[in-house]
Amino acid sequence: SIKGKTAVVTGSNSGIGLGVARALAAEGANVVLNSFTDRDEDHALAEEVGKEFGVTARYIKGDLSRGEEARALVEQAGTCDILVNNAGIQHVAPIEEFPVEKWDALIAIMLSSVFHTTAAALPMMRKAGWGRVINISSAHGLRASPYKGAYVAAKHGVVGFTKVTALETAEEPITANAICPGYVMTPLVEAQIPDTMKQYDMDRETAIREVILDRQPSKEFATLEQLGGLAVFLCSDHAAQMTGTTHSMDGGWTAR
Ligand code: NAD
Repeated sequence: SIKGKTAVVTGSNSGIGLGVARALAAEGANVVLNSFTDRDEDHALAEEVGKEFGVTARYIKGDLSRGEEARALVEQAGTCDILVNNAGIQHVAPIEEFPVEKWDALIAIMLSSVFHTTAAALPMMRKAGWGRVINISSAHGLRASPYKGAYVAAKHGVVGFTKVTALETAEEPITANAICPGYVMTPLVEAQIPDTMKQYDMDRETAIREVILDRQPSKEFATLEQLGGLAVFLCSDHAAQMTGTTHSMDGGWTAR
C-alpha cells in the first residue's frame, strides 16, 4: 500500500498531474503539488486535496525549465517515494520556423527536468528502500507527428531515460515506467476545441471526432481517473516486476 508514502508530482496544479496526484492521495499517499506559479489558489488547491483525502498535501513552487529548481523541488519535499514527472507544454511549428527559445523550453521542461528530479529523488528512494518513478510521456513518445519536433523529441527522450533509470535501479525495490497517453480531456485539450471548430467549420462533436481524435481509433478521450488508476497500479506490489517499459493508454493509437 502507498498509504503514508510521499509522492512528488510535477506540473500538478491542472490536468493529468492533478488527476494523478488526486488518485495517489485517494490511496493515502501524501502529495506535493507543483507548478511554476506561486498563487494563493495553488496553495488552496493543495489544502483542498489534503482535506478531501485526509493526507498531507503541499504545494511547492518550482519552474522546471530550470534544472536547479527541479532539483530543489524534490529536496524541499524532503522525502520522495513516488516521483511523477508530468510537467509539459506544447508548441507546434515546422522545423525551420521552430523558435529556438521554444525548442529550448520544451526540452528543458519535459526532458531535462526528468533527469534533474530523478537525480535528486533516487538517493531518497534508496534510503527509504522503495521507490516508484512514473514519467508521463505520450503516444508522441512512440510515434511522430509533423510540426511537433520538440515535443516528439522530448517525449521519445523521456522513454529512453525511463529505460536507463530502470536499468540503474534494476536490482533494487525501485521501478521506473513511462505512461504514454493518447488524447486525454484536460484544460489543454479543451482549449483547442473552439479553434478547431472555427478552423474546420464543424460542430463540437464533429471537430472532436474527425480532427482531435483522428489518430485515436476508439474515438474517445482517456480520462483523468483512468490515468490515475494506471499510476496507482504502477505503485502497487503487483507492478514490482514492471520496469523500464511504456504503458500506453491511447484508445488504440499505437496499434496502427
Ligand atoms: P496541462 O496544461 O493541464 O498541465 C500541464 C502542467 O504542467 C500544468 O500544471 C502546468 O502548470 C505545468 N507546467 C508547465 N510548465 C511548467 C514549468 N515550467 N514548471 C513547472 N510546471 C510547469 O496539460 P496536461 O494535458 O495535463 O499535460 C500533462 C502532461 O501530460 C504533459 O507532459 C503532456 O505532454 C502529457 N500528455 C498530455 C496529453 C493530453 O491529451 N492532454 C496526452 C499525452 C501526454
